Amino acid sequence: MSKKSAEKLLSTAESVCTQRGVRMTPTRREVFSILSRQPGAIGAYDLLDLLKEAVPNAKPPTIYRALDFLQEQGFVHKISSSNSYVLCTHFEKHHPAQMLICNQCGSVQETHSEQIDDAVRIQATKHGFDVQHQTVEAHGVCNNCQTAKH
Ligand SMILES: [Zn+2]
Ligand SMILES: [Zn+2]
Repeated sequence: MSKKSAEKLLSTAESVCTQRGVRMTPTRREVFSILSRQPGAIGAYDLLDLLKEAVPNAKPPTIYRALDFLQEQGFVHKISSSNSYVLCTHFEKHHPAQMLICNQCGSVQETHSEQIDDAVRIQATKHGFDVQHQTVEAHGVCNNCQTAKH
């Protein structure tokens, strides 16, 4: 993401926080900006190393608390299969999310298929299960990495 769109996304996130009456603290803001500079998903400890550049006394709980907050607000998606985090660029509205994760470069693309979301819900309902949250994670090789090979 370009510097300009990262700044725009951050200011959108800040106004969402104001609307919701929650606080975007300097640490949370810093974690958000670090995430906006990543080409793909990043693990909590790598994030912590980068955060220490701005907040030298940052500790693991610092990063986990910031990530919890950012996830609660929908600004960040957790990639469970690789235990990493990626910024969401469509957080203004609640959306179904499928993650396309590249095994080679680690890039993550988000898709938003309502059909996949509905299909899981329909199956769940048959089992009397109430789905509260679902993220489909697909691993493979992204378009860039495929073309780089040829
Ligand atoms: Zn998203
Ligand atoms: Zn790739």
